Amino acid sequence: MKLHEYQSKDLLASFGVAVPGGKVATNATEAKAIADEFGGKVVVKAQVLMGGRGKAGGVKLFENSADAAAFTQELIGKRLVSIQNPDGMVVEKVLVAELVDIAEEYYLSVLLDRAAQRLVVMISKEGGMEIEEVAHNNPDAIVRLHVDPAWGAADFEVRDAVKKANIPAPAQRQMVAMIQGLIKAYQASDADMIEINPVALTPEGKLLAADAKVSIDENALFRHKEYDETKDDGAEHEIDAEASKLGIAYVNLGGDIGIMGNGAGLVMCSLDEVNRAGGKPANFLDVGGGANAERVKTCVNLVMMDKNVKGLLINIFGGITRCDEVARGLLAAFAELNVTIPVVARIEGTAAEEGLKILEGSQIIGASTMQEAADKVVELAYA
Ligand code: GDP
Ligand code: MN
Repeated sequence: MKLHEYQSKDLLASFGVAVPGGKVATNATEAKAIADEFGGKVVVKAQVLMGGRGKAGGVKLFENSADAAAFTQELIGKRLVSIQNPDGMVVEKVLVAELVDIAEEYYLSVLLDRAAQRLVVMISKEGGMEIEEVAHNNPDAIVRLHVDPAWGAADFEVRDAVKKANIPAPAQRQMVAMIQGLIKAYQASDADMIEINPVALTPEGKLLAADAKVSIDENALFRHKEYDETKDDGAEHEIDAEASKLGIAYVNLGGDIGIMGNGAGLVMCSLDEVNRAGGKPANFLDVGGGANAERVKTCVNLVMMDKNVKGLLINIFGGITRCDEVARGLLAAFAELNVTIPVVARIEGTAAEEGLKILEGSQIIGASTMQEAADKVVELAYA
């Protein structure tokens, strides 16, 4: 899960990393008040979870608070589009930060090197631009330092790496401290990525994290409730966001045949079958175990949020939950729903025949094989 820049900077600051002062604003009035605190000399930065905000017009420097407020007004509600994110994202808040006078820009990141079973710190004097470009044009300009996650890094190792990266001598000590802070923050927050681009060196020789991008390992989010609130901000689709709130495994696939099943493998087979039958899956959705009426209802509602859906395929294997119970659950769910598109349910497993019998005469068309169900739903949806 990606954190916003303001969250990333708060996290880093709590581990002693020097960051410019700043606060979040959601409108021009708030932006003006914050800018005034810094004497009007601020940078206004769109808080959207995508890279390349600068080039997308989401970062701008100001000399007075009125202009900063006007830009905030303009930015809020606007969709920013970058090379990294061609669909773009709508700006809901901005960071109004103290303007840093930048003499030089460096690059720092901490990542997981799975092959080496170590963290890897990447240091480069060539900051400010895309690191991919540096890696391509001037690979020697990136110095890598592997760090044992249990032992951490000794100062002398970090110092060596910083020297090797040709960071100027007066900034080296601060750079070492910043790297140690990043490693601590990385471990404590269960991060899987921290990137500072640029690390700014001021003309006075002070080193600051002028940007910060932190991503937290999703499997560890239960340990970091403080990020629950912004969990959905990175979702590219409104239904994905809703699904993530409900705790349902849903992925929008852009087609028009809604698909749900119990078990990820079963759902993936269903996607293949719908494709084979000439349909375009609208989504992946794993109902999970049980498939009781309440759960089915929630899932159907979720799939139906997608206005492109023309037909619905339900694929349930009744193992512990018998198929007759599943069928009753489906009927109960659909009795309370207002679904007007064709619905085909393939139910198989324990008491499958009884289950199919229960569905007879209802709006749910029963099928006993996946192939039959996929053919049927595609035929009816595109009729
Ligand atoms: P990104 O494009 O999403 O990576 O956003 P950044 O926060 O990195 O901002 C883009 C660029 O704006 C940076 O590379 C800097 O050159 C510039 N920038 C950002 N903050 C400041 C600042 O406080 N002072 C100055 N002079 N430039 C800044
Ligand atoms: Mn940046």
